[in-house]
Order: sequence, then C-alpha cells, then structure tokens
Amino acid sequence: MSDTLFLDIMAGKIPADIVFENDQVIGFRDINPQAPHHVLFVPRERIPTINDIQPEQAALIGELFLAAACYARELGVDSRGYRVVMNCNEAAGQTVFHIHLHFLAGRNFQWPPG
Ligand code: 5GP
Repeated sequence: MSDTLFLDIMAGKIPADIVFENDQVIGFRDINPQAPHHVLFVPRERIPTINDIQPEQAALIGELFLAAACYARELGVDSRGYRVVMNCNEAAGQTVFHIHLHFLAGRNFQWPPG
C-alpha cells in the first residue's frame, strides 16, 4: 500500500467518499468497510505511525477524536455507541503509513477485538 495514498485522496487524485473536512482533518469512507459506517479520519499532515507523533502534534491528534465525535452525533450513533481504532505497525494490521482513526458504527462490537 502506498504511503502517500491518503495524500493522493486529499489532493483529489484518487476518488473517495468524503464525509468530513476541516483545515486539519479529512474523513472519508473506508473502501473495505468492516461495519455499516466505517470512516477513516486522517490528519492532513502525514505522520507515518503513532510512534512518530511529536508533542507539538498532540492537538492535531485531538482533532481526529473531535472529528469522530462530531460525525457520531451527526449520524445519531453517539448514544448507542461506536468504536474508534488506530493500528500501529505490522502486528496491529497497519497497512497505510499515514495515521488514521478508524470510526466504526452501526453494529455491536466484540471485545477483545481479535
Ligand atoms: P490500516 O490497515 O492501515 O489500519 O487501515 C487502512 C485502511 O485503508 C483499510 O481499512 C483499507 O480498507 C483502507 N483503504 C485502503 N485503500 C483505500 C482506498 O484507496 N480508498 C479508501 N477509501 N480506503 C482505502
């Protein structure tokens, strides 16, 4: 998977179903949804993995969660519940090295996640 895939989506070079946008974060539907609602919230600035997040980027990471919560309210799933997940590196299943918060909603989720 290309490390610049999400930059290409932001640049409009690759089509995506965008559901959220502000100056720091973009949200678009996952191409291979794992729930009725599966959106990826991505910072416009490329950070490869959680391990690369710098202290001065802490507010940007917060923006991902604010975007997810805003979208949950918009969908009306905020009370029922939803899941957000960020995979880090191979063992966790990260395939695109530009951090992204998976937002999953519309079904019940198991724990542990497997
Ligand atoms: P990761 O495995 O890195 O946590 O998540 C990457 C996600 O990106 C996967 O859920 C995958 O389905 C999604 N994805 C991969 N390629 C594309 C694409 O071209 N468009 C969209 N919208 N999602 C993609």
